[in-house]
Amino acid sequence: MDLASYADLAIILVNSDHRAGGDRLRDVNGLRELLAGRPHLGGRPRPHDLDAMRQLRAQLRAVFAASARGEPELAADLLNELLIQHPVHPQLSAHDGQDWHLHLNDSGAIPDVFAARAAMGLAVRVAEQGIDRLRLCAAETCGRAFLAAPGERSGRYCSAECAARRTSAAAAAGVPPRPRVSADLDTPPRGITPAHRP
Ligand SMILES: [Zn+2]
Repeated sequence: MDLASYADLAIILVNSDHRAGGDRLRDVNGLRELLAGRPHLGGRPRPHDLDAMRQLRAQLRAVFAASARGEPELAADLLNELLIQHPVHPQLSAHDGQDWHLHLNDSGAIPDVFAARAAMGLAVRVAEQGIDRLRLCAAETCGRAFLAAPGERSGRYCSAECAARRTSAAAAAGVPPRPRVSADLDTPPRGITPAHRP
């Protein structure tokens, strides 16, 4: 298991309130759907797991938001806080015909297991590829968390669709596209990184 792949958990959770059909943490069925296909996250989610997952979602969103605002030190501080709050317990495992590989925190309550993996995965990804890859889509109606492609230092949209929507909205309003940050950031933007592409 590539530990950096656990970064996907962070992105899936941050974006769990941005899907058609509404907030997936609205109830325990939504949380069960979010965890579907991830048996190593362990057990059946319980109603009291929801608050912990919502809190973790807000904390992870703040990491992406800080990076998207051009504040890498703050993003790193926030991620380091998560690593301290949710220590990992690595275990070597060789199941289903695979070679020995590392698993993180296979036991414990679902929010704890999820948080430890998501924070560790994100930290490994950041250490390998740079903290400035953590983004929030700048399209007004989107705001999804995403990882910019390697070498892509200025991408502000999660998809070609969001970039096109932003461009056509600006054209309709008769103004050139300007850098902006998502409206749902937790704190006022500071030091916004200018866009480097049209
Ligand atoms: Zn988007």
